[in-house]
Amino acid sequence: MPKKLIEIAAEILHAQVSLTPMSVAEIDLSLRQIFGVLCELQKAETAGIDIECAQLAAKEVAAAKLTPQDSIQNDKVICLECGKEMLQLTTKHLVSHEMNQKEYKKKYGFAMGTPLAANSLIKARSKAAIKRGLPDKLRQYLEARRRDKVQPSVQAEIATVTTGIQKPVLTPQNSIQDDKVICLECGAEMRQLTSKHLVSHGMNQKEYRQKYGFSMQTPLAAKSVSKAQSKAAKKRGLPEKLTQLNEARRKEKTESAAQSAGANPAGKPRRSILRKKNAV
Ligand SMILES: [Zn+2]
Ligand SMILES: [Zn+2]
Repeated sequence: MPKKLIEIAAEILHAQVSLTPMSVAEIDLSLRQIFGVLCELQKAETAGIDIECAQLAAKEVAAAKLTPQDSIQNDKVICLECGKEMLQLTTKHLVSHEMNQKEYKKKYGFAMGTPLAANSLIKARSKAAIKRGLPDKLRQYLEARRRDKVQPSVQAEIATVTTGIQKPVLTPQNSIQDDKVICLECGAEMRQLTSKHLVSHGMNQKEYRQKYGFSMQTPLAAKSVSKAQSKAAKKRGLPEKLTQLNEARRKEKTESAAQSAGANPAGKPRRSILRKKNAV
């Protein structure tokens, strides 16, 4: 003779209570839930209730009690549809519930980015992802961020590296060349980085120098232009320090010229000759 539904429900509930302590209210609710499920099963099963059905019903109740938050645990993920425990809730499994991952997440209020897998598996995976190497752009970005903290003046370099537009890496140092200056904001080449041009980037020369770590005295112009300007300035008369600096530079140049000139075997000091030449 088959057991009565209420007897089976009581057995199931007993099993449930032995797993998790329940309050009176919870027991009451569970009993009703179990009984309801059993009634439905009985309707479907004309040949009476077998134990498998009862187990299935118990699982359904367990799944119904499980919150989405609890369903993802460290060592497993529990399918909220059927109560099955697994390492990963696969699309293949969800097909058996006639849903995809997106629908499942929607139904149970998971964020779309939530991985449907045991936490331990997710951790292991993200570690593996780090080992494999993050997407290039992301890695460059992170690296840039790190360097940015260390030295704000390399921002230009970073910008160039991350966008990858310019082939030779543009740095504040090489942005000022002999025949041109390259705007570190837009890459435009010009003889002189004017205030007028910088206005188009919403900054003035001071801000530009600050941003790229130039000293406030650095001329934002092609070296040849600044040289010509300093010569002109010299004629007008310069502050003493600057005059000295220019003189030192000239001397250096003369000396190196003398050295290369002195590369001829004679090795005779020709400095005086050169000086005369230079003076002309
Ligand atoms: Zn399932
Ligand atoms: Zn520009």
